[in-house]
Amino acid sequence: MLAGSVRSTSPVSPSRGTVSTVPCRFPCVIIRIVLYGYQCEYCEGTVRPKKVKREAFKHKKGFIILEDIVIGVCDECGNRYYSADLLHAVHEIATGTKPFERTEKIPVAHVSR
Ligand SMILES: [Zn+2]
Repeated sequence: MLAGSVRSTSPVSPSRGTVSTVPCRFPCVIIRIVLYGYQCEYCEGTVRPKKVKREAFKHKKGFIILEDIVIGVCDECGNRYYSADLLHAVHEIATGTKPFERTEKIPVAHVSR
């Protein structure tokens, strides 16, 4: 790598630059702004933005399914990352403060080996 290409003039401290300013009304969820292209927490892969048709979120009040959203997906291990906006939406839908479009039945079963 050439020394001339190193970005060293940023006035923002890197360790504080990604702190979320989203107001958090529920302390149970870790809030972070998702900036795609960072390294996965679990492997050497890179988290990439991916548009998904639907994604199921587990909330303590039940499952919430969001459709046509963009999430972060590691290109190595496939671990999924969600933005604070998505987690807020899931919480608000689950607690009844945000309207939703419809409900679907979810199959439930015990599996014996
Ligand atoms: Zn990974």
